[in-house]
Amino acid sequence: MTEKKKMRRREFLKATGLAGLTLPAIKIVSRANNTEFLSSREQYGSFLVKRNSKGDPVYKVDTSKYKRFVEKDTMFSRSHWDQKTMDMEKQYQGTELQRIKNKDPGYSLLDYSFNHASWTGDNNSFYKWTSSRSRPGKALYDLPAWKPDDLPPREVTNIIKKAALFYGASMVGVAKLDERWVYLKAFYRRQERKDQQGPVEADIFIKDADEPVKLSENNQVIIPKSCKYVIAMVLEMDIDASEAAPTCIAAAATGNGYSRMAVTAGTLAQFIRGLGYMALPQGNDTSLSIPIAVDAGLGELGRNGLLITPKFGSRFRICKVFTDMPLIPDGPISFGVTEFCEICGKCAKYCPSGSIMEGPRTYERRIFSNNPGVYKWPIDPFKCYQYWQENGTDCNTCIYVCPYNKPESWLHDAARNLIGFKSSSLNKIILELDNACGYGEEKNPSQYWKKNNFIHIS
Ligand code: SF4
Ligand code: SF4
Repeated sequence: MTEKKKMRRREFLKATGLAGLTLPAIKIVSRANNTEFLSSREQYGSFLVKRNSKGDPVYKVDTSKYKRFVEKDTMFSRSHWDQKTMDMEKQYQGTELQRIKNKDPGYSLLDYSFNHASWTGDNNSFYKWTSSRSRPGKALYDLPAWKPDDLPPREVTNIIKKAALFYGASMVGVAKLDERWVYLKAFYRRQERKDQQGPVEADIFIKDADEPVKLSENNQVIIPKSCKYVIAMVLEMDIDASEAAPTCIAAAATGNGYSRMAVTAGTLAQFIRGLGYMALPQGNDTSLSIPIAVDAGLGELGRNGLLITPKFGSRFRICKVFTDMPLIPDGPISFGVTEFCEICGKCAKYCPSGSIMEGPRTYERRIFSNNPGVYKWPIDPFKCYQYWQENGTDCNTCIYVCPYNKPESWLHDAARNLIGFKSSSLNKIILELDNACGYGEEKNPSQYWKKNNFIHIS
């Protein structure tokens, strides 16, 4: 194709809006002391975010209190061994059918079917750590690993990020793996090994090894020490469906996110294996997704106990891939979330179960399903899960009501820029405007099916 024709094609795509995704170009706008001010329309929307140039964390950990967590104590694992949780779940049986028969808006047969189907792709087979098409844990071909001499490491990292976006991520970042975020023990609820009958708990070892082992015959997980990097990805959830919280329609946005993240993490891992490196794709298993995503510069931790990103608030799911491929880490970012959460508290106000804390952060845990030692607002996941049983589906209200969960517009962009100043008086004004606009109030879920424009995932 001649240069002229190439230009015409590019101009045509631009004019028709089909130019597509571009790799997030992150610009350093200015530097002061150890702080870099970054801008990237694709990655941060209209926020100007700060990054410590030394890569310092944006959270505080009390090392005398913090211990690697055991996955068995998470709420979803407790459904498989904790009698109190199992008794609570009995309440759920029958709730679905009753709500369908009641014709409750957002809980009809249409809505339940929509929700259940959205989970179809959440399949364990995508999260394999080795592949039958590759040598165990390693390359697709018996060739040396891909190490282009003519590309600087930053560009190699960008190629991996571009592939992650291509395979379905909405945002991607890289962190050096902090072993504190890896579970001490894994808990495999679903069948991971052919002979596995029921859930299995397995010790996780991070040690010198030539290949990863997801679950050995003697119930061990081996993460090779050479897997020093983690690629964290968020996948946006549909904004219209999320507005129907706490109904099945919003729950479908969650299920759809889980289905897509399995494909994205599994496919990216296979791509990396093809290049001759190890790749260990994960959903919620093996390690804590939120601190990894914070380290990878994707967002900050909010009062709602979730990651808040500049572009989507908490309206996404997270997946990740550990790898030994040498990559350049992004540093953690800050854009005023902690300061805004301190005065906002909308998630705590609207949470139907009282699971979200009011008041200041703490190093303590509220129940054993929390991990103490990180300065944060721990939620009470038992109360949250109890509400899901009463509700007949999962909730999502804390995602929907959060003022960071907004589509881009000039007004929202202006507010986002003001939040960046971390001024409590400005934050109070923004919060009042958010409330005055009726943001966060429950909407009629049936409206979801009446909207014609339903492709809302960018
Ligand atoms: S999902 Fe619902 S019940 Fe659970 S913490 Fe969020 S708002 Fe509260
Ligand atoms: S609703 Fe408010 S307090 Fe809660 S996470 Fe969002 S910004 Fe923070």
